[in-house]
Amino acid sequence: MRHVVLVLGDQLSFTSSALEGFDSAQDSVLMIEAPGEATVVWSHKARIAIFLSAMRHFMNQVAERGWPIDYVRLDNAGEPSFGSRLRAALRRHRPQVLRMVEAGEWRMHQDIAAACKDEGVTLQVLDDTHFMCSRRDFENWARGKRELRLEFFYRVMRRQFKVLMDGSEPIGGLWNFDAENRSAYPKRTGPGDIPEPAGFEPDAVTREVLALVEKHFPDHPGSLECFRWPVHRGQALEAMQRFIDERLVNFGTFQDAMWTNTPVGWHSLLSAALNLHLLDPREVIFAAQEAYGKGLVSLEAAEGFIRQILGWREFIRGVYWLDMPAMKDANHFGHQRDLPSWFWTGRTNMACMRDSLKQTLELGYAHHIQRLMVIGNFATLSELSPQRVSDWFLAIYVDAIEWVELPNTVGMALHACGSRFTSKPYVASGAYIGRQSNYCSGCRYDPAQRTGEKACPFTTLYWNFIEHHESNLAGNPRTALMAKNLHKLSAEERSGIEQHAAQMLENLDAL
Ligand SMILES: Cc1cc2nc3c(=O)[nH]c(=O)nc-3n(C[C@H](O)[C@H](O)[C@H](O)COP(=O)(O)OP(=O)(O)OC[C@H]3O[C@@H](n4cnc5c(N)ncnc54)[C@H](O)[C@@H]3O)c2cc1C
Ligand code: SF4
Repeated sequence: MRHVVLVLGDQLSFTSSALEGFDSAQDSVLMIEAPGEATVVWSHKARIAIFLSAMRHFMNQVAERGWPIDYVRLDNAGEPSFGSRLRAALRRHRPQVLRMVEAGEWRMHQDIAAACKDEGVTLQVLDDTHFMCSRRDFENWARGKRELRLEFFYRVMRRQFKVLMDGSEPIGGLWNFDAENRSAYPKRTGPGDIPEPAGFEPDAVTREVLALVEKHFPDHPGSLECFRWPVHRGQALEAMQRFIDERLVNFGTFQDAMWTNTPVGWHSLLSAALNLHLLDPREVIFAAQEAYGKGLVSLEAAEGFIRQILGWREFIRGVYWLDMPAMKDANHFGHQRDLPSWFWTGRTNMACMRDSLKQTLELGYAHHIQRLMVIGNFATLSELSPQRVSDWFLAIYVDAIEWVELPNTVGMALHACGSRFTSKPYVASGAYIGRQSNYCSGCRYDPAQRTGEKACPFTTLYWNFIEHHESNLAGNPRTALMAKNLHKLSAEERSGIEQHAAQMLENLDAL
């Protein structure tokens, strides 16, 4: 055999460079389901299911093309780990070359390289052209920069791909309309009618996978009852079009808004389809740009959405590969606490955390501001270990793959990489959550109280955080005001907050 082309669960595209020039007379596709991959972190059932279902749909498409495929199923006999299953496959096929595009995880790449070395098979790793910025181009852009900032990278990408450009200048004269993208839902009327995102009834393949997951991973967190995710390209395209037609219009305005029992808001729900490579980022960006061109959505809406994909998504991937493996151990603040047990059940008195965790367990989804300013914010303020928090984020979301999860969690949400690629810690008191949502009105705590029985944990722990990091925060223009505000509190108030925070930190399980 000439090439065995290894297709990983997050590489499900026929435009993959590894499949270019595929010759069914001398090549074969290899796909491996490995139970060990579901337990590296304690994966949400829906996360396991979306990978398996999308892989099986892709397998069927490969078979329809008449291409040879070796598909190793979850319940095949043999060792559970991916590495041992790969070794067994290499012994079965004895190819000249194992061909693949870059893995989405540093550990996975090491496992594959080790298996090939042990079995004496040449490994050929090709650029993953799904991404618009190659690892090499990102390295070149980052060279000589100690601190990396999205804003400058994003401008380079806009120019290079001529997205929302008028010659060499951005359409509308501004590179970003972030300031227009922070509205809350009206407090009196709430979010109103938001068009439903596309959802897909499980077909026979998915139903079989759901039963398999229940059978093999009964104790894993989360539920499969609401599983409606797109699992093949046709569904992913439909989900994208529905979003562009019906929801992009308000994406920008309400990007940072939260409301009880409103798990998705105006967000796209496209991250899993993108990360599995069922969608190409170029087609999603093009669709948003076209909607703006036709006058269907405002520039603010189109730019706000495009920035997430052309900007953040590519930037985050670049940073991951640049800073791995060190990023995995990053811990700027030296935080060491374990997660409170209610992270896995949602049973907490904090209404904002309860709502965000409840929907996470139901769907495997929370939108960005819930991940960043509710769950991530709480994790920073309560001094949780970045590694344990990151394992939780990797386990619990259907779109979680390490290249995107790790930098977002340790780098952006927990500031564990210091100012390497975010200019300030994303911390806020209960007042922020109160402004951006209706959570506080149904909560046992009061966002305005810093001490006492009703003190909001976000508020108490926020002031405690500022107290502990005052000198660093004062020296950064983006956080100097936070430090300055501390001096508006009396010495008595400050010491009361510290004492109350210490009690909370010792009893996180009780919050
Ligand atoms: C602590 C934390 C952990 C995260 N973990 C993941 C993860 O495991 N997988 C993941 O895909 N995203 C992750 N994100 C980024 C972001 O929250 C999700 O991409 C987004 O919530 C997915 O929902 P959506 O598709 O409705 O996104 P939308 O809000 O509709 O945004 C559109 C698209 O932009 C992309 N995008 C937006 N923000 C980011 C970002 N910060 N980084 C990379 N891409 C982005 C996604 O592909 C997303 O589908 C994380 C963010 C935080 C703060
Ligand atoms: S009062 Fe505090 S804990 Fe309760 S919902 Fe508001 S921010 Fe969250």
